[in-house]
Amino acid sequence: MQTNFLVIGSGISGLNFALQAAKKGKVIIVTKKKLIDSNTNFAQGGIAAVLDQTDNFEKHVEDTLKAGAFHNNKKAVQFMVENSADAIYRLIDLGVEFQKENGKLSLTKEGGHSHRRIAFVGDYTGKEIERILVKRVKEHPNITILEDAFALKLLTQKKFLSKKTCIGSQIIRRNKIENIFADQTILSTGGVGQLFLQTTNPPIATADGIAMASQIGCKIKDMEFIQFHPTALNKNTFPKFLISETVRGEGAKLVNEKGEKFMENLHPLKDLAPRDIVAREIYKQQKTEEVFLDIRYKSREYLKKRFPQIYEKLKKLKIDMAKDLIPVTPAAHYLCGGIEVDLNGQTSVKNLFAFGEVTCTGVHGANRLASNSLLEALVFSNQVAKNLTPNQKIKQTKFETQKILRKNSKETLLTEKMKQEIKAIMWNYAGIIRNRKKIKKEAIPKMEQILKTLKKFSGTNQEIAEASNMSIASLLILKAAYKRKKPLGCHFVEK
Ligand SMILES: Cc1cc2nc3c(=O)[nH]c(=O)nc-3n(C[C@H](O)[C@H](O)[C@H](O)COP(=O)(O)OP(=O)(O)OC[C@H]3O[C@@H](n4cnc5c(N)ncnc54)[C@H](O)[C@@H]3O)c2cc1C
Repeated sequence: MQTNFLVIGSGISGLNFALQAAKKGKVIIVTKKKLIDSNTNFAQGGIAAVLDQTDNFEKHVEDTLKAGAFHNNKKAVQFMVENSADAIYRLIDLGVEFQKENGKLSLTKEGGHSHRRIAFVGDYTGKEIERILVKRVKEHPNITILEDAFALKLLTQKKFLSKKTCIGSQIIRRNKIENIFADQTILSTGGVGQLFLQTTNPPIATADGIAMASQIGCKIKDMEFIQFHPTALNKNTFPKFLISETVRGEGAKLVNEKGEKFMENLHPLKDLAPRDIVAREIYKQQKTEEVFLDIRYKSREYLKKRFPQIYEKLKKLKIDMAKDLIPVTPAAHYLCGGIEVDLNGQTSVKNLFAFGEVTCTGVHGANRLASNSLLEALVFSNQVAKNLTPNQKIKQTKFETQKILRKNSKETLLTEKMKQEIKAIMWNYAGIIRNRKKIKKEAIPKMEQILKTLKKFSGTNQEIAEASNMSIASLLILKAAYKRKKPLGCHFVEK
């Protein structure tokens, strides 16, 4: 197969790009499950943007830099913020109906924001955006959609003295390996939450894009900055169900078993302090106390209307948020680093572009400001779509062999066990509070051993590839966490 634009991943960034690129050439979207299976579909809170006359670019930039512990790329932050309103209006043009009051967009607040600037659709913003984008790409004649198609590796060529160039991807589909050649290949494969035992991310988030890119020599940056969301529901759901920060934005308080509002004197922003600070405090409290969210002072009617998804989910679990405390716990949520790209989504490999959670544009610095990730995904995918043109130069036949996959049931079982081991290692050593000595002496050797074992397996299938990707990305995180000696943002090391 050959195309102009090969988009790997069908979250907000991939679909948004595909729609615009399809005006210029042929697009193939490959996605490893169904189109809607993405982190995007789980996003609740909303998208931050400067939409109100009393707000301004400087304040949004300042909040983003503060949350990111000033480790951010300021130019990238400014670019994102200045393009934020346009990104929202584009979604509205596509059909996303953000909540309005008296004809004006309603705006909510989340941790670290000095202003109400988050556009939302109930508490299911991501689901609604994904629904509309999926509808639009399905309607487009220039877009071919390949579901249940797993990108296995990136194809490259290197002619004498020229730069390594990406020419497409090898995919697993219908139990076969196929090659898709493309003028430009775009990684929009999302995050890495599944590397951790406790996560809000769905099963697709196994770090495939980062592992694939690193295997062809792409520069990867800031992998130690994993954001742990403070308030995942403390119940046995897989993944952990998120209690959106907008619940605190609308007034919920964090309390311990004694009823103490423990964030009150800890930070000027109290319950809406940056996520790393809240997550660490909950983690500390949990050594002796269970931690809860309390929003019982709001009426049932209000809660049902403002947080319909959360209200119903809790009701199913026999928690009445109008009457009961909501048990919460931190969980791995977001990767601030990733594949290094410039403002045009260019990776360090020619003809390979990336945007969304898989990338490090530098906007998040050492910790992401709430609701900036959907925004980043939109702004940078818009930018890549604006600049890319089909170039029709790549005609490749060299890799075109179809292999039948071998399966080995013993290896498949072992692979599942190894995935669980990876998650446990990452949760214990690269979690909320880290110890560098233990990372070096214990976690890295254990992870290297897992990767070595996986490499010896005779078969190739999606499970083995995912487990390898997980261990490759885990090693990148562990090594980066070991290298960074001092705490910064969401990387917190014990003395
Ligand atoms: C519970 C939850 C709530 C959130 N709430 C918010 C919020 O309110 N505001 C906000 O700004 N952000 C929020 N986020 C973060 C935000 O949702 C993500 O950062 C964003 O959706 C990422 O979009 P993306 O396009 O980069 O990737 P994703 O939406 O994760 O999409 C990645 C795609 O790549 C595919 N893929 C991965 N690997 C392969 C492979 N090997 N082959 C083929 N396909 C592959 C996946 O199947 C998927 O389709 C939330 C995240 C979660 C988990």
